[in-house]
Amino acid sequence: MTLYWRHLPRTWCLNTSAPRITKACPALNLGASWASIAKLDLHTKPEMPPCDFSPERYQSLAYNRVLEIHKQHLSPVGTAYFRKPLLLHQGHMEWLFDVEGNRYLDFFSGIVTVSVGHCHPKVTAVAQAQLSRLWHTSSVFFHTPMHEYAEKLSALLPEPLKVIFLVNSGSEANDLAMLMARAHTQNTDIITFRGAYHGCSPYTLGLTNVGKFKTKLSSTLGCQSTMCPDVFHGPWGGSRCRDSPVQTTRKCSCAPDCCEAKDQYIEQFKDTLNTSVAKSIAGFFAEPIQGGNGVVQYPKGFLKEAFQLVREKGGVCIADEVQTGFGRLGSHFWGFQAQGVLPDIVTMAKGIGNGFPMAAVVTTPEIARSLAESLLHFNTFGGSPLACAIGSAVLEVIQEEKLQENSNEVGTYALQKFAQLRDEFDIVGDVRGKGLMIGMEMVQDKMSRQPLPIEEVNQIHEDCKNLGLLVGRGGLFSQTFRIAPPMCIAKAEADFAVEVFRCAFNQHMERRAKSHC
Ligand code: PMP
Repeated sequence: MTLYWRHLPRTWCLNTSAPRITKACPALNLGASWASIAKLDLHTKPEMPPCDFSPERYQSLAYNRVLEIHKQHLSPVGTAYFRKPLLLHQGHMEWLFDVEGNRYLDFFSGIVTVSVGHCHPKVTAVAQAQLSRLWHTSSVFFHTPMHEYAEKLSALLPEPLKVIFLVNSGSEANDLAMLMARAHTQNTDIITFRGAYHGCSPYTLGLTNVGKFKTKLSSTLGCQSTMCPDVFHGPWGGSRCRDSPVQTTRKCSCAPDCCEAKDQYIEQFKDTLNTSVAKSIAGFFAEPIQGGNGVVQYPKGFLKEAFQLVREKGGVCIADEVQTGFGRLGSHFWGFQAQGVLPDIVTMAKGIGNGFPMAAVVTTPEIARSLAESLLHFNTFGGSPLACAIGSAVLEVIQEEKLQENSNEVGTYALQKFAQLRDEFDIVGDVRGKGLMIGMEMVQDKMSRQPLPIEEVNQIHEDCKNLGLLVGRGGLFSQTFRIAPPMCIAKAEADFAVEVFRCAFNQHMERRAKSHC
C-alpha cells in the first residue's frame, strides 16, 4: 500500500490534542481573545485530533506592534476575520499555528487555496531546489519548468482546450479571458450571475456582481448580470436539483431527469439574452459552483442549456475554476466536467500553486490565435521557473496522494455529517456542495430562510475559532460558512469540525435562550 501524508502516524504527537487556552500573555496581549471560549462547558469541548508536527518558537513582533503597523501602513479596507485578528506563524498540512503555538485545523485553506497542504514537504522541497537554481527569467527566454508544466497541465484538459497562458492571479486570469472572449468574437457584452465573484481588478469588477465591491465610477462597460439559478434562495428549486449528496429540504415534484427549476431559471436567462445584451455577445462566465456567494449550486443541466444559448448568440463560454478546479469537487478534476459541459476558456488560480501566486487561462488554439492576431499580451512574472516548478509538484502530489479521490470520499462523508447538523438546528438553513467545497447557510429559521443577523454569525465563527477550527464566510450577507480544507484531510478531522460546529450552535442556542429570559 502506498503511504500518503494523511496516513502517517499522528500518535507521536508533540502538541496538545486540543488548542491551548492560554492565560493572557502580556508580551503578545493575546489572552482576551480566549475569553468567550473559556466560558464554554469543558465537557462539551470537542477533542482535536492529534498532529505529528511541532512549530518553531515564535520570536518576532509582539501582537500590539503588528496591530499598530497594520493600522499605519497597510490597507484600511477591513477584510480580517474576528474581533481580534488571528496572528498566524506557521503551517503544516491541514494545521495552522498562531504566534502562541495554539493549533488550528484549517478548514478554509487561505480562501480555498492551499490545495495539497500547508508547506507540503514535496512541494516545498521542489520550490527550494528551484530557488537555488533559477528564480526568474520572464517569458522572453525559454526555461524547461514552463514547458514541463504546460505539458502536464494540458494533459489534464479535454480537447480542444490545449493552449495555456500563464498569469499571476485569478483576477488577472479573468481579465485575460474577458479580453480573449472580446477579441475572438469582436463583441462586447459579457454575462455573469448576480452574486458572482470573479475578481476585483477594474476590468473583472464588471463580472463581479456583489454590491459592496461595485464602484461608483463605472468600469463595467458591456457587463450584464443575470439571475443566479440558486436552488436554495431562488424562487425555484427542490429536493432533486443539485449535483450534491445533500439536497435542499424544499419538496420537488419533478421527474428524475426533468428538472422544472432548471427550466424556470433558463427562461430567466433567455430573458436577459433578449433584453439586456446586443444581438451578438462576447461571452458568459460562470463558476461551476459559486464559491464567494456561499457555495451556491445550480440545478443540474442548467449550464449545459445556458452554454448552448450563449453560443447561439455568438458568445464563448468561460468556466471560472479558480475555486472548483484541481480535484476539489472529488468526482472530477474540473468542475465543468461535473456539469457535463465543455467550455471554450477555463480560468484557474488559487489551488493551482498551493498558495504560491500563480494562475492560468486555458483555451482552444482558435481562440488563442484570435488574441494573438488582435494584440500583444505580456506579463513579467507569469510562468516563472519557480511558479511552474511548484505547479508541477502540486499536480504530482494531487495524483500521487490521490487527493481528488480523498476529496470525494472525505467530502461526501463530511457533507452528510453537516447535513445532520441542519436537521438538528433550525438556524442551519442549508448544507450544500460537493467534495471538499461545502457551504452551510445560517438562517433565522428554516421557514423564512432569512439570513441569521451578521453579529450572531460572527459570534458562532469566533466560537469555532476558539475551539480550534478555522472556516470561511460567504454569501451576500456573510451568512454562509464556507468549508474548504486542504484536500489531504482525514475523516477524523471532518468529525472534529462537525463537533465544533455542534458545540458552537449549542452555545448560540444558550445565548439566545438567555437573551429571551
Ligand atoms: N474567481 C473566483 C471564483 C475567485 O474566488 C477569486 C478569488 N476569490 C477570483 C476569481 C480572483 O482571484 P484573485 O484573488 O487571485 O485575483
